[in-house]
Amino acid sequence: MADKLAKLSTAETSFSPPQGVHYKHVTTPLNFSDMFFALYQHCFQEWDIQYQTDIRGNAYKAIFPTLLRSSLPIRSLCPIIVRLRTGHYKLNHHLSRIGVHPDGVCGQCEISETVEHLIEVCPKYFTARNRLKFALNQLCISFHTPEILRSTAAAKLVETFVRESGARL
Ligand SMILES: [Zn+2]
Repeated sequence: MADKLAKLSTAETSFSPPQGVHYKHVTTPLNFSDMFFALYQHCFQEWDIQYQTDIRGNAYKAIFPTLLRSSLPIRSLCPIIVRLRTGHYKLNHHLSRIGVHPDGVCGQCEISETVEHLIEVCPKYFTARNRLKFALNQLCISFHTPEILRSTAAAKLVETFVRESGARL
């Protein structure tokens, strides 16, 4: 795809996009931003199809049933947000799934130590949670884990919450 677009971008002819690529009829030569946009659009569509049809990633899909560009996290926050969204964090629930924790429950609460437990319930993080709640309220984001993790605007707040709480992720 990229090679074809590159070759076409230097030609003096016009062409129609390859089958499955949905953008307006393009007249070459393409400038850089047109080509970038066409490639981005194509790759995103391919990714979305794969995302919809793949049977893996159910934890992530519970938060994001479809791919939305606006839901993609800020790059610098990716490690924390991605871990929380995918369920691959060092909380006992996940550690139990990979066989390195006996039962997956929180040592203080005796219930499953999930990301929802971390953000919404566990008394160990009471102070950091109150700051998070206040900040989310300022942004009109409801205090509900899927909504928090779905929001790009909340990403920085989640990072702060994790840092202040001292949670191991
Ligand atoms: Zn707990």
